[in-house]
Amino acid sequence: MSISKKRLHVITWGCQMNVYDSARMADVLAPLGYAPADAPADADMVILNTCHIRDRATEKVFSELGRLRVVKAERAAIGQNTILAVAGCVAQAEGAEILARAPYVDIVLGPQTYHRLPEMVAQASRAAGAVIDTDFPVESKFDFLPDDAAAQTAGGLTAFLTIQEGCDKFCSFCVVPYTRGAEASRPAAAVIAEARRMVAGGAREITLLGQNVNAWHGVDAQGAPSTLGRLLRELAAIPGLARLRYTTSHPRDMDDDLLAAHADVPAVMPFLHLPVQSGSDRMLASMNRKHTAADYLDIVARLRKARPDIALSSDFIVGHPGETEADFEATLVLIRAVGFAQAFSFKYSPRPGTPAAGAPMQVPEAEKDRRLQALQALLRDQQAAFNAACVGRTLPVLITGPGRYPGQIAGRSPYLQPVHLDGPLSLVGREIPVRIAAAHTNSLAGEPFMDRVAA
Ligand code: SAM
Ligand code: SF4
Repeated sequence: MSISKKRLHVITWGCQMNVYDSARMADVLAPLGYAPADAPADADMVILNTCHIRDRATEKVFSELGRLRVVKAERAAIGQNTILAVAGCVAQAEGAEILARAPYVDIVLGPQTYHRLPEMVAQASRAAGAVIDTDFPVESKFDFLPDDAAAQTAGGLTAFLTIQEGCDKFCSFCVVPYTRGAEASRPAAAVIAEARRMVAGGAREITLLGQNVNAWHGVDAQGAPSTLGRLLRELAAIPGLARLRYTTSHPRDMDDDLLAAHADVPAVMPFLHLPVQSGSDRMLASMNRKHTAADYLDIVARLRKARPDIALSSDFIVGHPGETEADFEATLVLIRAVGFAQAFSFKYSPRPGTPAAGAPMQVPEAEKDRRLQALQALLRDQQAAFNAACVGRTLPVLITGPGRYPGQIAGRSPYLQPVHLDGPLSLVGREIPVRIAAAHTNSLAGEPFMDRVAA
């Protein structure tokens, strides 16, 4: 059967898991003849892969769809058909509303059904009306992805690999358990096989992804129960794989195996994103986080014992319903106690259908703004201090490509900081020792690379 050449444009919003999902959707459609297009106007199919995590997510989707509607109409005027698909968490949560408000959309699919895209495309092409598939199917999409998918689309030195999806924790503010479904882990063998293909395709660093990645569980090659810590050990044994990371973790699932992996698996990078959300036990309880501030500080202490140079990142929410000034102060106290290398912080924004959205004592917007600014000022100072403390140290840097200026190359430190330095492009793909000469807000400058290390 001959397959006609078609073009696909994917717009990706949100987290790294969406980036991974977009790449897999492209993989699933490649056998149908879809090659990448740079812009929607050049594409026979456009997928908008959405994120529902924060404020005004739905409105953002509708305004983007308004723009895509114009593109679709312009292409139709010159006799070209465009299949318009909305994927991801907004599609999962608001599928029916999307079809009602944007009837020019052809396909709505949730994060768990993209392996069925070829059927949906066939249905949409038969002009049989819009197709909606926001099931949580019994089969796993991962079992239906093309085997060589990772090698086709990863291609990069740093690759992302989804090992776990969904969440059963039901934090009061969060939409993930409703949009991504129950917690599920991919089998270890499938993860290891995909990692091997990524390494064969050139990856030197793999970041394992999951909404609750450290809740991953499975069985090892011997059939014994396995944890993320053990999986990291198995992956670290893949020849050619230099670095491993994992994100996002929940404090409750930081078990001894994982701490031990930080202590004695050199490929596991000394950097961890471990969201705490608040430093107030009262808020943590009302957020249904299932840990206290002391639990978090204890984990940090154990991590630092396992790996003294570990750097930490976190997520914070200010203005969750009921948050008082004293609760907010407790968050500042926790931040001072830990000392973060970087962090993400957000104003609480109600997500429809979550318990916090209907809770009394919503915090006024102006107060949320004030708290966010104070929190971010402290976090910025900590990031600046962490970066400044790197000056004069020699860090292993994985060189990933050219820098911004001619003669410059760029890479990442173990702590995920971007590093720029003068050096030859022949170093791309190598992890080299770089002496840090200066620190900027979000990056480091390295001394020019003199070829003092042998290959
Ligand atoms: N699973 C991770 C965890 O447990 O922390 C991350 C989930 S979410 C994709 C990433 C971050 O978005 C959360 O850690 C939280 O700080 C923020 N977030 C989620 N829902 C939010 C909301 N309704 N308002 C503000 N921030 C929110
Ligand atoms: Fe959302 Fe993370 Fe809480 Fe799960 S653990 S509900 S993903 S914030």
